Amino acid sequence: MPEGDTIYRLAEKVRDAVLGKVVTAFSTHAIADDVARTVVGHVVVEVVSRGKNLLVRFDDGRTLHIHLRMLGRVVVRRGNVVAVTARPPQLVLDVPGASIRGSRIPVLRLLRAGAEARAPDLRSLGPDLLSPDFDEDLAVRRLRVLAKRPIGDAIMQQRAVAGIGNVYKSEVLFLERIDPRVPVSALDASTLRRILKRARALLSANVKGGPRVTRNSLAGPRTWVYLRARKACFVCGGAIAALQQGAPPGRTTYFCPRCQGGLTPPGKPTRAASQDR
Ligand SMILES: [Zn+2]
Repeated sequence: MPEGDTIYRLAEKVRDAVLGKVVTAFSTHAIADDVARTVVGHVVVEVVSRGKNLLVRFDDGRTLHIHLRMLGRVVVRRGNVVAVTARPPQLVLDVPGASIRGSRIPVLRLLRAGAEARAPDLRSLGPDLLSPDFDEDLAVRRLRVLAKRPIGDAIMQQRAVAGIGNVYKSEVLFLERIDPRVPVSALDASTLRRILKRARALLSANVKGGPRVTRNSLAGPRTWVYLRARKACFVCGGAIAALQQGAPPGRTTYFCPRCQGGLTPPGKPTRAASQDR
């Protein structure tokens, strides 16, 4: 599933292929053909990631905004050979020597010059964990706004901090030994900063590619708790638990009730938690 590191890496790949080049073909299901044609002839001047968003900027000020969510896919093809496919891809962006192809992309739009600052989903984005000038203070303030939300839901909110998805959510909270059910208001600033620093470190360590690793080990799983419900915790041997968090249907959070049970969550403890205490 694409998280901040995946999109950061994708932006690098796309940048290598198209930066400074003239667009020779551009079409997508999401944009009218006559509008899409006006992109042809323009030069790609910037390719960046912001959280889980990919932005391709052209020399006339317009920006192609892509968000892959769960299933979207963007691939970079080298060379001028165009494969014949039964159905036209959802996105075609060709430059001399390379082609960007996309499929199943839920968010794909062409923003007019200046419109990026006004696009609600981009304007409201929290500080990007992979940005060299990541603003930790601002991220802490944005998390504070979500005071009542459990931390396992709050750090997934891209308006608070951009880049964390389901894998990092579970792994970061495990590594920092924080119960995902605890509300943001119960955590002090230094704890929030620890979470942000850990998330930054993990995302940064994984931007080089290869399988996503949050647990450095010669053998066994590459994650501490993610997708490990009911399996033994690598630290304490207790059973890893899973729960749904966030707006229904929610997203699964994996955690070790024993290792991450340092703070009492509000409401009834889960069965796994009470058994382990
Ligand atoms: Zn444990």
